[in-house]
Amino acid sequence: ERKPGDHVSIISDITQRKEMEAALKYRNEHVLLTGLPNRSVLEKALEEDAALPLSHPRTLICVNLSALYTISLRYGYQYHQRMLKEIGAALKSLCTGNDRLFHTMEHRFVFYVQDRSDEGALRDRSEQIWDALRPYLQAHGIGVSMGILQINEVGGADCEDLLGKLMITSEMAAANNHTDHSVLFYSPELDLRVARESEIIEEMIEIAEGIGSERLYLQYQPIFDLTSNRICGFEALARLNSEEYGPVSPTEFILFAEKTNMIVPLGERISFLALSFLRKLEKEGHDTISVSINVSVIQILSPGFAETFLTMIGEMNVNPERVGIELTESAFATERAEMNTVINKLKAAGIKILIDDFGTGYSSFARQRDLDIDCLKIDKSFIDRLMELGPQETITGDMISMAHKLGQCVIAEGVEWEKQLHYLQEKGCDRIQGYLISKPLDEDLALDLLTRGI
Ligand code: C2E
Ligand code: MG
Ligand code: MG
Repeated sequence: ERKPGDHVSIISDITQRKEMEAALKYRNEHVLLTGLPNRSVLEKALEEDAALPLSHPRTLICVNLSALYTISLRYGYQYHQRMLKEIGAALKSLCTGNDRLFHTMEHRFVFYVQDRSDEGALRDRSEQIWDALRPYLQAHGIGVSMGILQINEVGGADCEDLLGKLMITSEMAAANNHTDHSVLFYSPELDLRVARESEIIEEMIEIAEGIGSERLYLQYQPIFDLTSNRICGFEALARLNSEEYGPVSPTEFILFAEKTNMIVPLGERISFLALSFLRKLEKEGHDTISVSINVSVIQILSPGFAETFLTMIGEMNVNPERVGIELTESAFATERAEMNTVINKLKAAGIKILIDDFGTGYSSFARQRDLDIDCLKIDKSFIDRLMELGPQETITGDMISMAHKLGQCVIAEGVEWEKQLHYLQEKGCDRIQGYLISKPLDEDLALDLLTRGI
């Protein structure tokens, strides 16, 4: 039974319901943080456009910001969210004309471009994208990779397939490029590389489970002390002998292992092998020789890393003073409190901390002092430059004296020529590593070299 005024509440019910429906629809179609339409909206748009003639230029540009995960490691979740939001807005401001922007996954944005098709124009577009992102990323030493899929050239209509190819392209752009921004156009050849990646990941999973684990082994590269003129240690370098592809470089498989977190179990195996080698050295009377192990930021921040590592050292009964851990400069720039805690635990046990690839990332000397780093490894690129430039023009000498002021020992990486050695000697560099002394060697050859001398 209706009463006067009822219609008002019915109307307000309807309005409320409509508002709620609109809010729900908005939530279902947008990423709340950035306010951008999400992947399902992009899928719908692609499905709707699938019938368009191939002459109509349609392109997807995927902006892959997966390296942003380190931002939340370094500065925490809130900072990361704020940055992602600002990046979304900066990308949005690039959308002119027909371009549409989607936020398809946490660290991925996709532009749907419909008015350009030639490669030059698309490359220009990617440069504009980098210009917009640079202010956010560069100071943190973070890069971006972009994958470009020209839909009209691929010809496919299935949007699942298109987005899969796009994703792969942006991932591949990151994998084969170490500059701050990389761009790759999709080509069918990429599918082979994807197959390679998943095969290698499969094999690493097997190795971690103990199946065919001899496929993962270590080589040891001597580190030569310029004061005593002797080998003072080795760096352990991981090797993978794939069933399917033969030898695979660590620059390739370590990246896959990091992406899939397989680096944690594989890293434990690597540590075990390296410590076994150290034990062998001690047993054979080479008790002043050290062994350093490369450790990824993901490993060092994985729960219980220091405890597991120290337990292993204890069980194997090796001298922790002879164990080094190499962290890349970018890993070490991580400003999470856990990082300091882990490093302090390791240092308290006597383990040496080395900064790898110094000069390629971002880290401050002040932070090094706080953390009491033992040793700095100058990246090969700075050693290479010694061949071209005069002594005054290189900063390599300044790096050495700065490190010495902080009480750090300096190792030059990738020394290949006498000329480099002479410069380094003159500047007081402590140790060198590189083909001039020796390539990385199998365990028995490394032992031989110690006994024989060079
Ligand atoms: P890195 O730690 O900076 O290792 C030095 C790399 O330079 C090694 O490459 C070594 O073989 C190479 N090298 C040494 N001397 C010379 C030289 O005179 N000339 C040239 N051209 N190269 C030289 P490799 O073994 O391919 O390793 C590459 C990178 O892979 C390593 O760089 C390290 O970042 C990573 N890696 C290797 N093993 C492991 C591991 O067990 N765990 C982790 N997390 N990363 C690893
Ligand atoms: Mg290293
Ligand atoms: Mg290095």
